[in-house]
Amino acid sequence: MVKKYVYFFGGGKADGNESMKNLLGGKGANLAEMAGHKDLQLPVPPGFTITTEVCNYYYKNNKTYPEGLKEQVEKSMKKIENLMEKKFGDVNNPLLVSVRSGARRSMPGMMETVLNIGLNEKTIPGLIKQSGGNERFVYDAYRRLIMMYSDVVMEKAAGIEPQNEEMGIRRQLEKIMSEMKKEKDVSSDTELTVDDLKKLCALFKERVKNVLKKEFPEDPYEQLWGGIGAVFASWNGKRAVAYRRIENIPDDWGTAVNVQAMVFGNMGDDSATGVAFTRNPGNGENKFYGEYLVNAQGEDVVAGIRTPAPINEYSKSEHNKNLISLEKYMPDVYKELFNIQRKLEKHYRDMQDIEFTIEKRRLFILQCRVGKRNGPAAIRMALDMYKEKLISKEEAIMRVTPSQIDELLHPIVDPKEEQTNKPIAKGLPAGPGGATGMIVFTAEDAVNWTKEGKKVILVREETNPEDVEGMRAAQAILTARGGMTSHAALVARGWGKCCIVGCGALHIDYSSKTLTVNGVTLKEGDWITLNGTKGNVYLGQLKMMDASESNKLLFNFLKLCDSIRKLKIRTNADTPEDARKARAFGAEGIGLFRTEHMFYGKGSEEPLFILRKMIASKTEDERKKALNELFPYVKSDIKGTLEAMAGLPVTIRLLDPPLHEFVPRNEEQQKELAQSLNISLEEFKKRADSLHESNPMMGHRGVRLGITYPEVTEMQVRAIFEASAELIKSGKKVEPEIMIPVVSTVQELKDQLIIVRKVYSEVIKKYNLKKIPYLYGTMIEIPRAALVADKIATVAEFFSFGTNDLTQMGFGFSRDDIGNFVPEYIKKGILDEDPFQTIDQEGIGELIEIGIQRGRKVRKDLKVGICGEHGGDPRSIEFCHKVGMNYVSCSPYRVPIARLAAAQSVIKENKDRKKK
Ligand code: PEP
Ligand code: MG
Repeated sequence: MVKKYVYFFGGGKADGNESMKNLLGGKGANLAEMAGHKDLQLPVPPGFTITTEVCNYYYKNNKTYPEGLKEQVEKSMKKIENLMEKKFGDVNNPLLVSVRSGARRSMPGMMETVLNIGLNEKTIPGLIKQSGGNERFVYDAYRRLIMMYSDVVMEKAAGIEPQNEEMGIRRQLEKIMSEMKKEKDVSSDTELTVDDLKKLCALFKERVKNVLKKEFPEDPYEQLWGGIGAVFASWNGKRAVAYRRIENIPDDWGTAVNVQAMVFGNMGDDSATGVAFTRNPGNGENKFYGEYLVNAQGEDVVAGIRTPAPINEYSKSEHNKNLISLEKYMPDVYKELFNIQRKLEKHYRDMQDIEFTIEKRRLFILQCRVGKRNGPAAIRMALDMYKEKLISKEEAIMRVTPSQIDELLHPIVDPKEEQTNKPIAKGLPAGPGGATGMIVFTAEDAVNWTKEGKKVILVREETNPEDVEGMRAAQAILTARGGMTSHAALVARGWGKCCIVGCGALHIDYSSKTLTVNGVTLKEGDWITLNGTKGNVYLGQLKMMDASESNKLLFNFLKLCDSIRKLKIRTNADTPEDARKARAFGAEGIGLFRTEHMFYGKGSEEPLFILRKMIASKTEDERKKALNELFPYVKSDIKGTLEAMAGLPVTIRLLDPPLHEFVPRNEEQQKELAQSLNISLEEFKKRADSLHESNPMMGHRGVRLGITYPEVTEMQVRAIFEASAELIKSGKKVEPEIMIPVVSTVQELKDQLIIVRKVYSEVIKKYNLKKIPYLYGTMIEIPRAALVADKIATVAEFFSFGTNDLTQMGFGFSRDDIGNFVPEYIKKGILDEDPFQTIDQEGIGELIEIGIQRGRKVRKDLKVGICGEHGGDPRSIEFCHKVGMNYVSCSPYRVPIARLAAAQSVIKENKDRKKK
């Protein structure tokens, strides 16, 4: 038996359903579901889907089709004919079809579409009859077919490469059309007369023949197979491949092809087409939202050539408030559409993006899919749908991605700056947040300038899929044309990128790379600032601000996550300010306070100067003197941080820098230090030289410093205990954890513990306290330490995995030098990803598991966490959860992301368990 390659849908039935996405593609499965599911049975134009298997066959077999496909396609065409009561290629009552792509995951605008297939000189009169004598509509459809088909099928799919864009057939035909408009002195396509259009079609066909050396095909089936081939070919088109790389879509998924009866939104003023969302994708409000265009085809909405009208009052904006809404224009159709969108959302239990067409007041649903949304909208929708009992708590949590949370943490334009700066233009707010950058006019420049480290804003008339890489590189996107469903808006929304579209006041001149807006001329490289939430464009580089802390919805959502997660979330913070910020983000403690960081970039040079003195000391006496001077600074920083954390655990790591990092290279500073140490510059230089190490990362750092200079440990431990004692005395709670870095043997820990205990009893006595609660523990960041974790845990009360060093020493990759080779490793597929960003579970992960297992064998209640950079990486967090850590610790800005990732880890684990 021949395999089934074609799945039919229509007339309240369908061969496929939603669960067959891999085979039918997202669109095909969705059309089948909408047409055939008993709760829906929506008015979908009938059609069929050619499976993704055919796409893979096509590429494996030299662009040919499997046996039996032809018959299956023809049989399905007959079924469409029956349902539509029209005939493909019929002179009196012709059926027209569309041919569209449809991969497993939506790739908006990345592949080809051909509409109006089946139209030719012979069927034209029949279509005129069908349309009630609307000749203009028919010739317009014909000229669209010629334009699309000659470009997509005859040129692109045939592999004809014009020397430049101008010489491409599409541009040439567009030029003919604009010349005709100029000649007729009209500005819009719709002003061209029937005769104009007839002439245009003839001119088009002549040009096609001259340029492509081939007659435009009149045979409907030839047109159909041409369209099908073009869609399959476009799976490997440049822009589809680029998009797949960005979105990590495997090449072997392939695309399906959907052939469907054409319905027309451009049959006159009683026809229309539009895009609607069951909730507002810009802010998540539970309000039906959308746009439509009277007497237009779907491509007109997406192309952004005309400004679409709002479907209802709610969808009105500055931009389209004077246009009549669908609700008012065709109340009955609107009502039907409204009911359908409710059904669809209930059925899919998520916000849907719906494409519809109205042909002579008859509504057709062309497609629906889960609507893309930005971070703020994702969070609002998840919370609302949970409250509405449409989805469970777990589903709500899974609906938001870590990067969407990240979006909310991104900067906005400082509102104060917005009060004092007037926008130079206003457009539609298509992507939230603020951005500032230099103007570039091409996607290519956006990519190149960004590579040079510049911040750019890509300014275009409108974007198309060829611009995707540039859009990705840019800080933000600004277009002169297009609506909220234009290409730029859709793509930016998917990425959560700041974006303003339809900014009509912009007059862009690509050739001179300038932009004129309300009398001001800007050139490439000039700075502008966008507020993508409001749609405001400002001149110059305005100050940005972080809005995250005041975002109430985000915090409600994160609370939901907190009710599920098991991992605690701590932060890596080195100053009281960082600690406060992290607490506002929900940190439940500090997992890593890097003592040495308090000396970096201080306004006052003083503590750094003393630290340098301490490092350059030769004798214990000199060192002790410097340490005594340093003591009050260290103590006050620790005290401030403990206080800011209000009784939450604070892991203070003892000094761990490679020492030479702190030796000044500048002779002026060297002189000053020499003077204060009472030594000659020469002697100072000698000492500095003696600090030089061949492998400082594996040199005299961490605990090794404390072993050779016990007074360094003593000073720090005293600072910790005295800061704690003083806080306790003033009625505050503290929970310090003393952490020893770079440990490889338990003996090191034992050595340092003697100092800790000695200082502890001195401080208790001094402050007349019974007790200061504290823990004594270590980092596990050297492979040996993980292996002898059972011995180490006899002394350490907690482990914190320093996965930066553990990765460095586990791989033997110097963490400061990976730039020279890791990218090549990834490019060549030797590594899947940078192991310093995401834990290498196979190797470093194994070390971690061994460490935890052996540690807990001797100390059941051993507290285990992670403080390497991986603590803020969602996939690494999932791993930390799986191996039974108590907490992860990450930079303040990643705390919200970690809260979500930790909750999602629990949900995924439960799901996996159920599967088993
Ligand atoms: C680590 O090694 O993972 C760590 C947190 O310490 P640092 O990055 O300071 O070496
Ligand atoms: Mg380390």
